[in-house]
Amino acid sequence: MTELKPLTTLNCKQQVVRAVRFNVDGTYCLTCGADKKIKLWNPQRQLLLKTYGGHANEVLDAAGSCDSSQIISCSADKSVILWDVTTGQPLRRYRGHASSVTRVKYNEESTMAISGSVDNTVAFWDVLSRRQEPVQVLKDAKDTITSIQITDYEVVTCSVDSHVRRYDLRVGKMVSDFIGHIITFGSLTHDGQCYILSCADSSVKLFDKDSGELLNTFTGHESKDYLLENAVNAKDSHIISGSATGEVFFWDLISSKVTSKLVHKLNKPIVSLSHHPTEDYLLTACEDEVILWGFSMGKNGESNSNKCCSVPQCKSRYTNEISLFFFPKDEAMRKRWTDATKIEKRVTQDMQVCSRHFVKNDYILSGVAKVRRLKKTAVPTQNLPWQFPNKRNNCHSA
Ligand SMILES: [Zn+2]
Repeated sequence: MTELKPLTTLNCKQQVVRAVRFNVDGTYCLTCGADKKIKLWNPQRQLLLKTYGGHANEVLDAAGSCDSSQIISCSADKSVILWDVTTGQPLRRYRGHASSVTRVKYNEESTMAISGSVDNTVAFWDVLSRRQEPVQVLKDAKDTITSIQITDYEVVTCSVDSHVRRYDLRVGKMVSDFIGHIITFGSLTHDGQCYILSCADSSVKLFDKDSGELLNTFTGHESKDYLLENAVNAKDSHIISGSATGEVFFWDLISSKVTSKLVHKLNKPIVSLSHHPTEDYLLTACEDEVILWGFSMGKNGESNSNKCCSVPQCKSRYTNEISLFFFPKDEAMRKRWTDATKIEKRVTQDMQVCSRHFVKNDYILSGVAKVRRLKKTAVPTQNLPWQFPNKRNNCHSA
């Protein structure tokens, strides 16, 4: 794996950045500050888009909704706030927790916000209704909730009581695993098969989700007393964690060897980090500063991504102006895409089509951030190959 380089630095002016989070498609990011505010950025352009003020104490976590029209945030002021991205105004304030709210997440459709607290509970908030009370409260943990992860049918919580708890929402069942160490953060691999747990004994542990078997342990970094977070890259090949030493560690998921170490700021803890959902970009927060890491543009024009558009005769790569979209999962829609783009080879799950092949009306634009998402009915119609494509794959031509 080639080493990532610092691309841009955000001087957040928030005293200390408690959490940094990419939005759903990785175009924008949120920083949560000790200054009680949330900031929305375009990290590539070092552009501050909006500041959200209304919490009465430090903001500890935040997330953007899937259409990027709303933000949910939580704070040491015990509240959870739902924000309108464009106006910057709070839409709702939820005050159900008895202590600091440490984590907040949306479910996949962003119809529900799920918050975890120092009061040991996890609360579900229906953000579509005007209801002020939680729809459901999970009270199984015996100590502070340190992370929440959500898939289409389950909620996974980690806690200082050394337990991972998995709630299957389809059958209303809870499975609990005792890990033996305080868990400071938990994430899931993109394939949904494994937990990645940051433990207070300066280790990151990889567990098989279904069997509970310990698959690998990653060490070298220092936790001290920090609640360190972890991340996994988009390909599920590397585990990433910050360290109290100011470094960011990358481990090979299979061999557990350290493959690279980035220095953000020596001897200052890197508590929060966020990996881009599909590309090799990483955000790290240290004190009042966030760094965007990526592959810098090389002399030969190779971009920070090895991904390019799969449409024959199109050489577009991911940039600020060009987005890439995966093929639809729906089989009939997928067929319409392959017919339209005249792609002859078999479509694999990492092949993408760029935004040059769509018209304005194919997108849903929402929020200040104007994130481009494709409508479910969109089919490529623009800049399509007009003759039989070259057999050569444009992506790798030098
Ligand atoms: Zn293209």
